[in-house]
Amino acid sequence: MSYIGRFAPSPTGPLHAGSLLAALASWLDARAHGGQWLVRIEDVDKPRCKPGADREILRQLAECGLIPDAPVLWQSQRGPAYQSALDSLLVNNRAYACACSKSEIDQVLRSRGLMLRRGEERVYPGTCSVGLGGRQPRAWRLRLPEPAGARVHWEDGRLGAQTEQVDQTVGDFVLKRADGPWAYQLAVVVDDAAQGVSHVVRGEDMAASTARQILLQRALELPTPIYHHIALLHDAQGRKLSKQNGAESLMPGYAAVRDAIRTLGLTPAGTTLGELLEHAKRQWLARQHQATSSLSARRERR
Ligand code: GLU
Repeated sequence: MSYIGRFAPSPTGPLHAGSLLAALASWLDARAHGGQWLVRIEDVDKPRCKPGADREILRQLAECGLIPDAPVLWQSQRGPAYQSALDSLLVNNRAYACACSKSEIDQVLRSRGLMLRRGEERVYPGTCSVGLGGRQPRAWRLRLPEPAGARVHWEDGRLGAQTEQVDQTVGDFVLKRADGPWAYQLAVVVDDAAQGVSHVVRGEDMAASTARQILLQRALELPTPIYHHIALLHDAQGRKLSKQNGAESLMPGYAAVRDAIRTLGLTPAGTTLGELLEHAKRQWLARQHQATSSLSARRERR
């Protein structure tokens, strides 16, 4: 099988220690499998993007020795591809327009006796799945398959067997938002397929999106990549290290890569950046082999 991996940062700020980890892990996995490694700038949500952060991320990656094998893809230029995916879902009755505001959704859920907590994911109650009732569309949603079809299983390279019943966790989810931009889920699925991505290695926070992405792949008849979610870096307060909670921009180069290799549980070796990366690649491969053989030994024992 030919291997294509990718790193897909949102340019909300420069690379930091946490995002370098995802970049490095995806690069190591691609290189360990003799595959290609791509970079995609996920700038669909313009208000959240910081001008110039995309170029800065690419520069930082290059200084860490992580150079993509194909031209970088910017999601902000992919509108027509997302539109044609949405159109085909609409034609097949796998998507529908939704007129509900957040407060209307909450009202319906409360009327069904649900306790709602602030910041908690709302399971869309399906109000507009039978029509807009003359209201104006504010968003477009995926129509989930019947409950059995909304149950998704996948085997994660690090987390093992995963299951999510998407009708109970999020319900019919948004593909294009009321305020204009394409939803992350749709953009990722369309682009992973367009770029021929076979393996997705990314941070564990993205595991919560994987089942939705698999359902979208099925609805669009696109292949499902192999997923591997790596452990996240946390700050001193135990929060996920992110641009939102002030993770510092990274000073790219040898020391940053050495530290990231260590955080991935590997032993850095080598006096140049090239040697560091080459050595880490061999260790990553050996570790993957170990994980696969202990998994098959466990399966045989069962
Ligand atoms: N763009 C997402 C982020 O920067 C990552 C998406 C993905 O890897 O699928 O958090």
